[in-house]
Order: sequence, then C-alpha cells, then structure tokens
Amino acid sequence: MLAKIKEHILQVWLLMRSLRARIFLIILIVGIVPSILLRYGILDNYEERAVDLRQNTVQNQLRILADHLISKNYLENYHLSDAQTAVTKEVINAELEMLSNLYDGRVLIIDSSFKVVKDTYGISEGKNIISEEVIKCFKGESTFNYDRENGYIEMTTPIVVNKTSLVKGVMLTSISNANIVDTMEVLKHKAIILETLMIIVIVTMAMVLSLAMTRPFNRVTEAIKEVKEGYRDEAISVPDYLETIHIVDAFNQLLHRMKLLDESRQEFVANVSHELKTPLTSMKVLAESLITQDSTPSELYREFMEDIVSEIDRENQIITDLLALVKMDKKAQKMNIVPININDLTELILKRLRPIARKKDVEVVFESNRTVVAEVDEVKLTLVMSNLVDNAIKYNREHGWVKVTLDADHQFFTFTVSDSGIGIPEGSLSQIYERFYRVDKSHSREIGGTGLGLAITKNAVLMHRGSITVTSTEGEGTTFRVKIPLKLVAQLSRENL
Ligand code: ADP
Repeated sequence: MLAKIKEHILQVWLLMRSLRARIFLIILIVGIVPSILLRYGILDNYEERAVDLRQNTVQNQLRILADHLISKNYLENYHLSDAQTAVTKEVINAELEMLSNLYDGRVLIIDSSFKVVKDTYGISEGKNIISEEVIKCFKGESTFNYDRENGYIEMTTPIVVNKTSLVKGVMLTSISNANIVDTMEVLKHKAIILETLMIIVIVTMAMVLSLAMTRPFNRVTEAIKEVKEGYRDEAISVPDYLETIHIVDAFNQLLHRMKLLDESRQEFVANVSHELKTPLTSMKVLAESLITQDSTPSELYREFMEDIVSEIDRENQIITDLLALVKMDKKAQKMNIVPININDLTELILKRLRPIARKKDVEVVFESNRTVVAEVDEVKLTLVMSNLVDNAIKYNREHGWVKVTLDADHQFFTFTVSDSGIGIPEGSLSQIYERFYRVDKSHSREIGGTGLGLAITKNAVLMHRGSITVTSTEGEGTTFRVKIPLKLVAQLSRENL
C-alpha cells in the first residue's frame, strides 16, 4: 500500500517535471486566476455602489420629509388632537408609509427627549431609544450602517430647523437590501456560467498549446533516438526554437566527433593489421624459399634466418610501440609525477643513444646553461626525448650532428632537438604526428621506423600539458621544440578546480 502511494507520488513528481505539464499549469493559472479575482472584485464593487446609491436616494427623501416635519411643526404638535393637526399627521404618516413600502423598510421618528413619536411598524411608539447613532445624529451628523449579515441598511437623519440649525428630532430608518442581494445572485449566477465556459476554453487552449509548444523537443528526442538506433547517421535539424537549434547543434557536433573517432579507429585498425602483416609476409616468403630449395647452402640458410630474425624484431618493435601508444591513450591512467633533474635525464638518454649515433658517425652534443628540475612523469618524458633524438640520428646523414639544448624560464622548460639530417618536406609537416605516417615508407622501414614514434611523443607531451613544434628544411635539417610546464601538479589541480 505504502509502496503504491510512493509510486503514485513519484509519478506525479515526474509529471510535474515535464515542460508540457508546466506550460499547461502556467496557462491555466494565468488564464483562470485573473477571471476569478475579477469576478470577486466586480461583484464586491457593485454591492458597495448599490448600497451607496440606495442610501443616498433614501437619505434625500428623508431630508425632504424632515423639512416637512419641521414646516408642519410635527414634533411639537403630534400629541394634539385638533382637526388641523390630525390632517397634518395623516399627510406625514402617508408619506412615511409610502417611503417604508417603497424601500421595504421601517422609519422611526424620535423627538428631543429620545422618545419614539412615530414608528411605521407601530411597535415602538412611546418607547425611548438612546443609541450611539441617535445621540450622534442629535449633534447634527447623519449616520449610516450596512448590516450585510442581517440584510438591512440602517441610517439616521437629523430633523433640523434650517435657520437655526437646531436638531429637533431624529429619523431612524432601516431598509432592506433584498433587491441588491437578488441582483447580486443573478450576477453571480451569470459569472459562474461565464467562468465555466472560460475554464473550458482555457483548459482546451492550455492542452493544445502545451502540446504544440513541446512538440519540437519531442522531435529532437525522436531524431536523437533514430541516430542512436542507427537508422540515420547524418546531422539532425529541428529549427523551431533557438533552444532546439542549440541542443541540436551540440548534438551534431558530438555526432561529428564520434564519426571522426570511429573513422580514425577503423583507419587505425586497418593500419595496424597492415603493419603487422608486412613482417609476417616477408617471413613467409623467406621461409618458403628455404623449404622449396632442395639443398640450400648453409651461408644462404643463415642469411635467410637472420632476415627472419630481423623481421621478428620489427614485429616486436611495432607491438611494443603500439602498447606504449595504447597505454598513453587511457586518459584515466595516472601520471607518476615527481620532481626530476632534466639535465641528468637528458645525459642518461644521450648516453644510451650515442652508440647508435657513432655507427653513422653522427656527433651528439648537449647544451644547457642551467640546471632544470621539473615535475614530470619520468617514463613518458624519457619516451619523448629518446624518440626525438633517435629520429634526429635515424634521419641524419653520415658525419652529421645532433644538438640537444635545454632551457627554462620561471614557468616552462624547453627541450630542443636539432639535426643536420634529410629534413621533412613542408607538405608532410602537419602529418608526421599521425599514427603510422612516414614521409618515405621504404626508407623508414629500412632504418627500422614504425611510424608511431612521433604519435607517442605528441601524446606524452600533451599529457604533460605541453606543446611540440617543428621547423624543417629539406636537405638541411630539422628542429623539434618541446615546451613543458615546470610545475605540472599545480597546473593539473588548477584545471580540476
Ligand atoms: P618512424 O618510426 O618512422 O621514425 P615517427 O613517428 O617517429 O616514425 O616519425 C614519422 C616520420 O616523420 C618519419 O617516418 C620521418 O619520415 C619523419 N621524421 C621524424 N623525425 C624526423 C627528423 N628528425 N628528420 C627527418 N624526418 C623526420
């Protein structure tokens, strides 16, 4: 039971989070609330005005009557019973009756001793009435009181001698508000009918509008679903709103990036297969030629076997480089950052590579004006440096030179490798960091290149938040320049903030 209620609440909560439900509610509130407020405002205002009008009309008539009472000396003579007074009383009484009948009310005339001398209901004659209103009225002030609950309007009118402003008596009148209430009821009834019609129109409008306004978002979802399920892979377009244009643009960019990634992955797999197959094919050709020959001289046998071994070495090298590259591609892989003396590291790398350089009679020199200590991943930086120096030796001419320089400012250290080698054609400069790219495939193969060295180098530099640039002149030489922050830990923590 509790689980069901919970599920129900969750469903309502989810529904309320939908844009459609919110638009529906907003239109509903904006459409209905003002009409309800307007109804109450108008009806209240009408009632106030109707009561005011009624009070004014009756008050005017009472004043005229009060003048009559004064001119006929009604208050002085009401106890007399002569013929003249009787006629006057009858005329006044008739006027009072008419007034009470007209407004469905009751009029009491009170003299200066607070005694009721006339009551149109004939109940209170002879009684005394000393109320706050009556006392106020004797001071010359008319009072007015609307008792909504009991349904009457009560007012007092002073009976004043115009010349002296002397208040001789008070008229206490109460009239019914029945016809105001009746009119209000009719108005209320009409308002409710109008309101019901309005609610029906607004609810329908809210439903239609909320559906129409959220349709473009549904179209975005549909289009993305189609891409996700593989029915389409081209860019989608929902130009209805600026918002949908932005969402769709962002999605299209993502799609484009994923396509590029997919293409580069396919290309990479094709390249890897090709590269791994080439040494295998050579080995097969060598082995087959040994098998097919009946009596192979032992020197030839040996030579072929040596060739097979070098192909195996090559295969091994490609796999080692590939593994290094794949490891580097794992973004989450932690960098092992420690402060390293870069001068010592360079010396160590050059010491390892000098024997290879010596074979080609290439001179390797190292220049540094200062000691550089930087926070780096030693293994990865070693890959960067040794790949660059190795290339500078590999693609050099006989008796050439390689110059390695190390320098630093307060933020970065720079490591430059210049050579007097064959250089790189300008058209190839932008491609040398691509996996398996080689300017001259056969030459590179000959000297044992896999085409992965610079891809590994660039990745390692980028992981250090550094940059690598190259300048080269064909036939003259090449210079690679690597720039890496000295304090990588601080840099990485700034980025993670
Ligand atoms: P490889 O294993 O073939 O050396 P790299 O990725 O290290 O692969 O280099 C890519 C290509 O860039 C090389 O095949 C070569 O043609 C060119 N290259 C790299 N370094 C140099 C250099 N110092 N001088 C001339 N060419 C170079």
